[in-house]
Amino acid sequence: MENAATPLADIRDRIARTAQIAGRKAQDITLIAISKTHPAAAIAPLIAQGQRVFGENRVQEAQEKWPALLARARAEHGEIALHLVGQLQSNKADDAVALFDCIHSLDRPSLVTALARAMDKAGRQVPCFVQVNIGAEEQKGGCAIADLPALLAAARAADIPLAGLMCVPPAAIEPAPFFAFLDKLAADNGLAGRSMGMSGDFETAIMLGATHVRVGSALFGARGA
Ligand SMILES: *Cc1c(COP(=O)(O)O)cnc(C)c1O
Repeated sequence: MENAATPLADIRDRIARTAQIAGRKAQDITLIAISKTHPAAAIAPLIAQGQRVFGENRVQEAQEKWPALLARARAEHGEIALHLVGQLQSNKADDAVALFDCIHSLDRPSLVTALARAMDKAGRQVPCFVQVNIGAEEQKGGCAIADLPALLAAARAADIPLAGLMCVPPAAIEPAPFFAFLDKLAADNGLAGRSMGMSGDFETAIMLGATHVRVGSALFGARGA
């Protein structure tokens, strides 16, 4: 098979092909370019190639890297969105609400409270995905499946705009059953968005309903150790 001209073109082709097989529209799948650990110099070419949605997993790293980049990119290209895909401490809620356009890691009641307060204070509504610990793994972020209904109710009561559900399935085992389960949980709870799928499994996730795929290393190359 011929190589696409750039990693971005290759990922876009693969999203389009998979969407077609699944009977879905490619434009209903948002590619989030996960730029964590990569410098502005690596991100700028992707913006130049038309990528408009980026993701970071740490608030502080994003604060160091993105404000200047966003200002420049927005002046030149218009809309650019920055998503937070990593765990969020409650004491960083104000910073996260100020910088990010979407948060994928709402996973506990204390964070509902902190984010609602931060959004009120900033006068800025930031859509949130509720992260589900879909493999019931110890040590992993995300709310327990049994706690999901109560957490969603708390977020709705606090007027947090809910984008959908997000998961990171257990490493090194077949992710498809976990993606299918997240899709069902989202449907059962009346949520449109499914943030699932990374470099190694985004096509599987698209087949199973992903609306947002989070792709890092396949776009930027491997992250340093
Ligand atoms: C790093 C990261 C990704 C991207 O992972 P790749 O395997 O490099 O595509 C996706 N989601 C989250 C939550 C991440 O932290």
